[in-house]
Amino acid sequence: MPHITSPAQIKEIMKENDLIFHKGLGQNFLFDANYLEAIADSGEVTKEDTVIEVGPGLGVLTTRLAERAKKVIAVEIDQNLVPVLKKLTADFENVEIINEDIMKTDIDALIKEEKSVKVVANLPYYITTPIIMKLLEGKYNIKSITVMIQKEVAERFVAKPGTKDYGAITLSINYYTNPKITLTVPPSAFIPPPKVHSSVITLKCKEPEVEVNDEEKMFKIIKAAFNQRRKTLVNALSSGFSHISKDEIKNIITSLGYNENVRGETLALEDFAKISNIF
Ligand code: SAM
Repeated sequence: MPHITSPAQIKEIMKENDLIFHKGLGQNFLFDANYLEAIADSGEVTKEDTVIEVGPGLGVLTTRLAERAKKVIAVEIDQNLVPVLKKLTADFENVEIINEDIMKTDIDALIKEEKSVKVVANLPYYITTPIIMKLLEGKYNIKSITVMIQKEVAERFVAKPGTKDYGAITLSINYYTNPKITLTVPPSAFIPPPKVHSSVITLKCKEPEVEVNDEEKMFKIIKAAFNQRRKTLVNALSSGFSHISKDEIKNIITSLGYNENVRGETLALEDFAKISNIF
């Protein structure tokens, strides 16, 4: 079978193989061919690329990626789906299926010597951010990550300073990547339909553009600033770093030219990098 294109087909395959949709594993399968093609297009996959797909499900996206890529490595946690998935993708010799939890997968071992690696996936929503952060913090040789995620989460990734969606995750995503939302998908494109709208976002991986002496320290500062986002940065940091006096923190912030009442939620990544470098 080349491609799945309808909810009826998915239902039939599930019934024939005694499968059920596991809500706890985020199993909302996309069936709309236009959206599936659009996700694969957003990933800008070419015959040079090895694609890692997280959560292939019944392979609706896998087959579309296989047509475009050199190779697709699809990592699926649900062992009941795997034999069916293997049958459904059997026409494509460039598909490798791995039955694993992506959070436990050794990504270096997957990538091996592959030169151009892209991640494309319709992610399980219960674990979206941990999966993305694992891929980014590991600093693997990955060019881009194109994923369907909950719309609200995508909006947080691209939020501007001072807005309600802006937070620690915005800064992490923008430290490692340039994010861009490419399309929005309604619940009706899935079976069963999820309760939320979805967006496809492409994260183009990059070398960080800010100079930071100690990344871990910068992210600790960012976390402390947003843990108490209604407080001034000075107050938030003096709660988060109780071994440093409030006066010392005030001196650091004002010596960099910021008002002592500045709030963390108005500062950009460059600001946090500057603060972190003298903190
Ligand atoms: N790719 C299919 C599609 O587009 O319809 C299925 C997407 S569905 C939203 C998410 C898939 O991720 C499910 O097949 C689910 O079993 C799988 N999954 C959930 N948690 C996972 C994990 N930790 N590691 C790998 N796959 C996982």
